[in-house]
Amino acid sequence: MSTYNIVTLPGDGIGPECLDATLHVLQAVLERVPKLKLNLSRHEAGAEHYRKHGVAIPQPVLDECLAADAVLLAAIGLPDVRKPDGTEVQPEMMMGLRRAMGLYAAVRPVKLYPGVASPLNTASQGIDMIILRENLEGLFASFGGGCLLNDTVASDTLMITREGTERVVDYAFRLAEKRKGRPSDGKRRVTCVDKANVFRSFAFFRKIFLEVAQRYPNIESDAAYVDAMSLYMVTEPSQWDVLVMENQFGDILSDLGAAIVGGLGLAPSAEIGNAHALFQPSHGTAPQLTGKNVANPIATILSAAMMLDWLADRHADEHAREASQLIESTVAALLSQGMLKTADQGGNVTTSGVAEAIVDAIAAQG
Ligand code: ATP
Ligand code: MG
Repeated sequence: MSTYNIVTLPGDGIGPECLDATLHVLQAVLERVPKLKLNLSRHEAGAEHYRKHGVAIPQPVLDECLAADAVLLAAIGLPDVRKPDGTEVQPEMMMGLRRAMGLYAAVRPVKLYPGVASPLNTASQGIDMIILRENLEGLFASFGGGCLLNDTVASDTLMITREGTERVVDYAFRLAEKRKGRPSDGKRRVTCVDKANVFRSFAFFRKIFLEVAQRYPNIESDAAYVDAMSLYMVTEPSQWDVLVMENQFGDILSDLGAAIVGGLGLAPSAEIGNAHALFQPSHGTAPQLTGKNVANPIATILSAAMMLDWLADRHADEHAREASQLIESTVAALLSQGMLKTADQGGNVTTSGVAEAIVDAIAAQG
């Protein structure tokens, strides 16, 4: 029997609906994998909480996150809820969580499931890569700081440290090792995405990348400039396996990645540290869709599958692995049959309808 304590944070906007759909799916999974037990707790945090109580994430909830085996977050932030300095609540709360939990690696799978429409006609050979974003430093190092001088000049600091780069690059190679046999050409490869030709900070990032690559002689490695990579991701998206990059570059390319495989509604993510991990859809709170039962919950559902896969790795737990694979394979099968076409995918399946279809399909396999 494996038991995990999971903190869930429904958050704002479409977050609660997407989380409820995910919990419905998890319940069905637990019935199929009876040796897996999840103690799920639910806590309020985010912009609405800030509006009511003046704090986005209360200390006791942060403490719960630090004590849990994993955190599943739906979506937080509302454009009209702002701090006195005019900035949104979401970036500060996320940066606070990342720093407190030491979440140095943001993992964004960019995978085109059969049956999902890509805007690219180059997608026919398949897209299955991972964007790995350094999550604690880079251009976000001066987050909350930065400098504005006499209303004439503003600056932020881009910081690359040896320790921060080594750990995320090392994680990239371990991910590539885990992804044996993928993508379709069977190659395992890690690509460093940077701007090493122009900036000292990125030249240092690449230098450390090349050092770490030496430790993984069985995995191919190469490097590309970020501007070229944004072109390659469109012209030859099937060529890439694991792309590792600085924080801001990862922020940008992961939205491009989501766009080429069906959009934000299908894009899960994981944020990983040495002791903690947090899982959330790549999308925000889409306030205009809130409460209408039209949001696509698949990004959150696939994030829960990533959570179970991470628990499986961390605890060498085949029950968690089985649960993760059950979710992903069921979602993939239903997508390929065109059964999960929500509004963002050009259909009219509802948020709860997606959950019901997945739950029924899981039950039918029993
Ligand atoms: P954030 O600042 O948190 O990144 P954002 O304002 O950039 O948020 P999102 O809330 O992620 O953007 O969404 C942008 C648009 O994408 C939404 O307005 C919505 O149209 C669409 N979208 C995002 N997530 C979903 C979803 N799960 N289902 C359907 N549409 C979605
Ligand atoms: Mg956004």
